[in-house]
This record gives sequence, C-alpha cells and structure tokens, in this order.
Amino acid sequence: MVKYVFVTGGVLSGLGKGVTAASIALLIKSLGYSVTAVKIDPYVNVDAGTMNPYVHGEVFVTEDGGETDLDIGHYERFLDVSLSKENNITTGKIYSTVIEKERRGDYLGQSVQIIPHVTDEIKSQLDLVASKHGSDVVVVEIGGTVGDIEGLPFLEAARQLRFERGVDNVLFTHVVLVPKLSTLGELKTKPAQHSMQELRRIGIQPDILVARSSEPLTEEARAKLSLFGNLPVTHIFSNPDVEIVYEIPIQLHRQGLTRAVVEKLKLNYVDPDLDPLMEYVEKFKNPLQEVRVAMVGKYTRLTDSYLSIVEALKHAGASLRIRPKLVWIEATDLERGVKRVEEFLDQVDGALILPGFGERGVDGKLSAIKAFREAGLPVLGICFGLQLMVVEFARNVLGLADAHSTEVDVNTPHPVVDLLSSQRGIVVKGGTMRLGSLEIKLCSGTLAWRIYGGSDVVYERHRHRYQINPSYVDAFEREGLIVSGLSPEGFPEVMEQKNHRFYLGVQFHPEFKSRPLRPSPIFSWFLNGLMH
Ligand code: GLN
Repeated sequence: MVKYVFVTGGVLSGLGKGVTAASIALLIKSLGYSVTAVKIDPYVNVDAGTMNPYVHGEVFVTEDGGETDLDIGHYERFLDVSLSKENNITTGKIYSTVIEKERRGDYLGQSVQIIPHVTDEIKSQLDLVASKHGSDVVVVEIGGTVGDIEGLPFLEAARQLRFERGVDNVLFTHVVLVPKLSTLGELKTKPAQHSMQELRRIGIQPDILVARSSEPLTEEARAKLSLFGNLPVTHIFSNPDVEIVYEIPIQLHRQGLTRAVVEKLKLNYVDPDLDPLMEYVEKFKNPLQEVRVAMVGKYTRLTDSYLSIVEALKHAGASLRIRPKLVWIEATDLERGVKRVEEFLDQVDGALILPGFGERGVDGKLSAIKAFREAGLPVLGICFGLQLMVVEFARNVLGLADAHSTEVDVNTPHPVVDLLSSQRGIVVKGGTMRLGSLEIKLCSGTLAWRIYGGSDVVYERHRHRYQINPSYVDAFEREGLIVSGLSPEGFPEVMEQKNHRFYLGVQFHPEFKSRPLRPSPIFSWFLNGLMH
C-alpha cells in the first residue's frame, strides 16, 4: 500500500515548507524507495499559469507542459526526477473535476458535497499520482497555513486518509515558525503551540514537528513544544537558517529525521548516501572565484519570481567553483530614470536578461541590452530576454526604427517578434501557451551546438506565445546575429552573435532542467564566459 507523508504549515507562510517537504522526500528516496511529491495549492485557480510571479513566485514548467507552483521545482531538483502536471493539485482542479462529473451524471441522485465528494476527489487524485509514478511513498505538501478556510477540505481529506489507511501508512509533519524576540533573546514557542492546537481541532495530531528558527532550538524550547504539541521530543527537529537549501536534508538527517520517518511508517532503514549532496554544498560554500551577473527583469523585488534561474546559476557555479554574485537591475527603475544602466557597467561581468510578459519594463530592458551589447559584455537572454535582444539588435544595428514585438506594439512597422501562428485565434489564457518539453535542432559548429556537446537535437522546456519572426533572419545573420537552433516548425530557438565569447539568447527555459549535480550547460557556459 502506498504511504503518504503530509507536510502542513503553521504560524505564517514562507517558512520553506516546500524545501522541508522536498528534503523529506529526498531522505526517503535515499533509503531506496520510489518517492514522488505533490504540492496542493488551495487557491481556486486551476493552475499557476495565470498568476503573477511578482505575488506568487515563478511559474515552474514541467516536461508535460504543466504550469505549476515553484515548489514542484524544489521537488524536481531535490529528487532529481521529472514530475508532471498532476503533481500540482489545486482547489480549481478538484472542483472542476467534481463539477464535470456532476454534469456527466456520475453522482446521479445525490447532493454533491464537500464531504464526501470533494474529499474523495482529493484522495483519488493523490492515489492517481502514486500509481502513475509507481511510488512507494508520496510526500504531499499542503500550501498555505493551517486555519485558512480554503485549506480545510484538503486537511480533512488527509485526516480521512490516516483514518482509512492507518498510522503506518500516513504521517503528518508540521512546519512552524519559532521566532526569537530580539529584546528578550528568547525563542518563543507560543505561536507554534497554537498552530498545533488548531491542527488537532481539525483532527490531525502531528507526528513530526519541524521548527524554523534563526538558530537551533534550545532544550527548553524543545521541551515546551513536546509537551504542548503532544509529541515526543525526539520527533521535534530544528530547521535553522542555512546558506543553501541543500543543507537542510543533511541537517534534518543528522538530527534523526530519517529514522523517525522510518519508524513511524515501518520502512526499512539503510544509511543514506548523502555524500554527493554534501560535496555539492561544500563546493558551493567554497568558491575559488566570484563573477558578477546583472539580472535584468521587472519582478526583481521578489527574487522567487526567478527562482529556477537563480538555482541554475548556483548549480553551474558550484560545479565550476565560481560564486555568481547577482546584481539585480529593476527594468522599471531604468525607465523611470531612478537608475542609469551605465552605473552598472563596471559593477558586473555580464548580464542575464530575464523572461517576462507585457509592456512594463520593456524600454528599460532594451536600454540595458544596448549598453551591455555595446560594452561587449557576455549576455544571456531567456525567452522574453532573447526576444528583446532581437528587438534591440533590429533597432540599433539593422537600423529598423520602431522594430518591436507585437506583444508590446501591435502596429510596429517591423514585427521582428510576432505571435506564433499556432497561437492565432486563441483567446483563452489558461494553459494555452506553447508549453513543455519540445525539440530544438542545433546548427552544427555554432556556440549553442558546442554548449550541448555537439548534439544535433536537444529537448528543453518552453512557455511562450511569441517567436522570432523568420522573415527577418537573413537581415540579422548578415549583421552577425545568427540562428543556432531551430524549432521543428522552423522558427529560431537560439540566436547568437558570431565571434563573441557569449552573446546568446534562447527561446526556451534551460533553468527548469538544471539540477544541483547536473547543471544546465547553458548556465555553465555563460558563467564560464564571464570569467575571461
Ligand atoms: N512574453 C513572451 C512570449 O509569450 C516571452 C515569455 C517568457 O519569457 N516566458 O513569447
């Protein structure tokens, strides 16, 4: 029978519940079990695709084109697996299925209710993920905090699962904040106590408590949490601030979390091999060199908006023993004249032009691209980043004044970036972009082709509606901006400046496939390019 580990959160959000869930999943996997992880997002959106990254963090894209919560990215990176759409369950998804079934007549004669119909649907979608992935254990993170109205049906479904499948098959982990009051210099456990009380009121007794705090828990704090939380002191774990998230599974393991999970779920214990992970952490913490990367975007005040890109830079950096120092440049600041791009030119070794959507910040990004290109610095553009590199080149090198993407200016005389033909006529916004893993043909001898080790065909994940307009390609190539990768439909997927150490843009998102121990070659070559 498949076993479930639920991870809930209390006190406040942003405690790194996703990283805790991913760490638990990694530790169970390291025992030799087949593990998958599910993120439950109790909002009514069907998926994360229509949400603003500035509020919710990045939209993570799966191989099968799911637009999911960023925690799915943590799970993929920690477990080193590819997950799918189904690994992210939302209220919107559950309700739309229930309503579809009701309309079909599946519940004929019954009044359709949250209990049992909605909770049954939640349980059956969880079982579906387990059987699709052939998992022995599914780690399920319930988003939000305990006590949120929208989370209740999910907690109720989890409670039922424990009741129906037994204590050996369902485990509850609760992640809480234990703040330290600077005036008292003391760790305060009261909010955590309340949060566990709230969980018990719903019918859930946590088996394991993970306490986020700025420093390790004191014996006194542990004792209080144990008494008021109704769980043994040996099942309380400390999750203090760390430099890099991959330290967390190592720390939790050292404190005995793996053994606690094994004991509760009646699994077989073997000593997990965490050496490769530890090696990665050591390399990351002890770089031999630093490079400075300008990060040009418009959601820069919430760095979670670009989480996978930041991670991919860290992965590549660790393998090269380079510490990438990120210098965030908010494109709207350049537009409003609050900052000037020239100020940054000698503060950075190169620039990454970040993905994005819509008009805001575009002029700022274009002025940044121009300055970096003219300074001869290495530049990597991702998705919208590539598209704007092309717009800038068209205007300032080809002399096509007012060249633009039709996403920003529908009436541009030179639509160098234009809507994909497959997107014409699509009005529904959710899940309709060109999404997921798709083929890219690389042109032999180019930098892109060398980056991918001489492969003629590679697969990367996509999320876009616009493309580089193939009718301008000849003009670009005459001026040295060449196409080095093509989609099966024949539009540019990679463009690069000839005879430049690194001036390259990609229509896809290489960041989504980067793993700590298997960095994306695009990021490795980019960082390498910054060192010379
Ligand atoms: N807005 C652009 C498009 O839809 C780029 C998208 C992106 O950067 N992910 O094509």
